[in-house]
Formats: sequence, C-alpha cells, structure tokens
Amino acid sequence: MAPQYTVVVFDLDDTLIDTTAVLVPDALARVAAAAQVTVPDLDARGKSIDEVLAPAGPLSARARAAAAAAWYAPDLPPLDPKPGAVAMLRALAPHARLFLLTRGAHARQQAKVDAAGLRAHFEAVIVRPIEAAGSKRDDLTAILERCGIAPAQCLVVGDDVTDELAHATALGCGRCDIANVTFDEIVARVSAGSA
Ligand SMILES: [Mg+2]
Repeated sequence: MAPQYTVVVFDLDDTLIDTTAVLVPDALARVAAAAQVTVPDLDARGKSIDEVLAPAGPLSARARAAAAAAWYAPDLPPLDPKPGAVAMLRALAPHARLFLLTRGAHARQQAKVDAAGLRAHFEAVIVRPIEAAGSKRDDLTAILERCGIAPAQCLVVGDDVTDELAHATALGCGRCDIANVTFDEIVARVSAGSA
C-alpha cells in the first residue's frame, strides 16, 4: 500500500528553482566584483561565503565583508520556477500540507521565494540559517510536531543527499531525490496515498 503522505516538505535551491545554472554564476560574479577576488567556478550551491572564498586564499577583512554582502544579498536576476514546478504544487495542494524548507541567508532565501512567485503555495516558508548551529533536521522535526504526524506521513523532496534527503532518512520520512523523480511522479506518489 502506498504511504499516506499528508505533509510534503520541499527544498528550494535546485529543487524548485534552477540555482546552479541561474543564481550561482550571478552571485559569484557579484562576489568577484565586490571583493576584487577571482572566485573559481565551483559548485558553490549551499555554501557559506567562507567556503566559497577558501580557494582564493586569505582576504582582507574589508574584502571578506564585501564578498559576504554580495553573496548573501537579496539582489537576484530574473527568476522562474523550474518548468512544471507550479503545476505540481497546485496538484499537490488538495492532498497534502506543503512546506518550503531552505537553507541560506534569510533575506536572500525569502527574496528567491517571492521572485519565483512560490510563496502562496506553501503553508510556511522556513529558512535554516547557513551560518548558525543546527540543521534542516531540527526544522523537519518541528514540522512533524506542528502537524502532529508520524515521520512516515511526511515526504521530503530535495536534491541534496547530504542535507534534506539524509535528514529525511534519519527521521523516517519518505524522500524524493529530484535527480531521479519527475514532478509528475511526485504528484502520483502523494495523491495515490491519499485517494
Ligand atoms: Mg537544494
């Protein structure tokens, strides 16, 4: 029998929006301009500014501050959800409570949600600070408690096998790695359980 998912928790970056292709190059360019530093074209998704800058070697405090301001700024290029993302969220709405759980700088993550027009689809948007203690596991636990459900009733959808997907497994939630599952398959999985 299909699991009865009553709550679906989505990651944002590279799950509902194309962070790697659209946002990371833009942010790296702004960091380079702000700090006058050559930043390698690395997989910077989900990294703190110190992780991004590490390959460039030591920086002055002023340059580091300028780079951090650019990296975390809520200035975004035009941003659309991934194709099919909004249709999926609309299709899921009758079947489950939807949450967005994203890790990063608060203002920047909130700006992404609004720029992509995603906010109205979620009961709550939760930002896990990137430069603070704790992890998305704490937020997933809080969502389970808020909704009064068992972990098996919660499906976590994301792209990071070391972050939200690992926490889903550790807590006993269902998980969808969007590298392997289409948006249509997510709708089918959730609606099948609640039919
Ligand atoms: Mg992600």
